[in-house]
Amino acid sequence: MNNNLGFFLSKITEMGGIDLHAHSTASDGSYTPEQLLDLAKSNKLNFIALTDHDTIQGYQNIIEHFSTIDSYLAEYYCSAKQNILNQQNPYKSQTFDFEAGLLWLAKQAKYGKLIDSPILIPGVELSVIFENQEIHLLAYYSGQEIELLDDFLEEQRVARYKRNLELIQRVNDLGFPIPENELDPSPEQPVTGRVKIAKWLVANNYVNSIQQAFNDYLAEGKPAYVPRQRVELEYALQLIDQSNGFPVIAHPHQYGWCDNHTLLTEKITKIANLANIGVEAFHSNASLEQQKMIFSLAEKLKLPFTAGSDFHGTNKEDHQLYSLNYKPIVF
Ligand SMILES: [Zn+2]
Repeated sequence: MNNNLGFFLSKITEMGGIDLHAHSTASDGSYTPEQLLDLAKSNKLNFIALTDHDTIQGYQNIIEHFSTIDSYLAEYYCSAKQNILNQQNPYKSQTFDFEAGLLWLAKQAKYGKLIDSPILIPGVELSVIFENQEIHLLAYYSGQEIELLDDFLEEQRVARYKRNLELIQRVNDLGFPIPENELDPSPEQPVTGRVKIAKWLVANNYVNSIQQAFNDYLAEGKPAYVPRQRVELEYALQLIDQSNGFPVIAHPHQYGWCDNHTLLTEKITKIANLANIGVEAFHSNASLEQQKMIFSLAEKLKLPFTAGSDFHGTNKEDHQLYSLNYKPIVF
């Protein structure tokens, strides 16, 4: 794993003025990636991670216009070569020292010396299975290595496409004439599925609410349910390792693990024994107590920790994007 990146994420989380979990229209957010980055800029964030569900399309659409950690350091490296007398310069040797570069970058952020546009941390949020439970795994990258996940994500896309065809078929068989192309992915919304069907059923007055659509037809065990291809946590961890990313367990409090301290410790320890991971200790809808609980466990196990709003634009009104003033509660 890219452990240097993991500890860097902790460091910038501790500093604040960052947001390491945000969605765009490439998955289920309401802001386009451009709009999201504009907002990050007006919120004066130093770092923003784009972490759409199961796709890096958003990142690919905007990457030309933004710096990643790698491109920022590379640029610095070029200009630093002109000034080899500067002893503070981490790149005074010809070797590209990633760890020293990250330290330098964190310092720049701390003293407000970063460029006026936030640095983009490419990421993705994967749905994986751990002990028969679906959990979310964030994968972070310092630059374009995230594209090494492309083949895997493409396989997932194909599987999702097949599942969607079957979903449409079943809904039709139930007597609801849903158009064949209702779930076709678009550049704005490459990830579609049951929620979109539920919305269609509501819009066409076949049910009163999205919840009812799930309860009556789409939930597991109901007539329109089609099982999803499941990705095991171990497999995803391997992929992230091979592509030099760093994995972080997203919002552990959402899996019921914060109900008691022993359970949380047990789960996180098991995962940490599989691979070097971090935990998302700070999150918009985690209570103060839950955040403290996850953070102190991370400290105890010496795991990197992160903070993220889980911003979805207008699709989740209570998850506002963080700003320069954001600081995790324990610091
Ligand atoms: Zn998320």
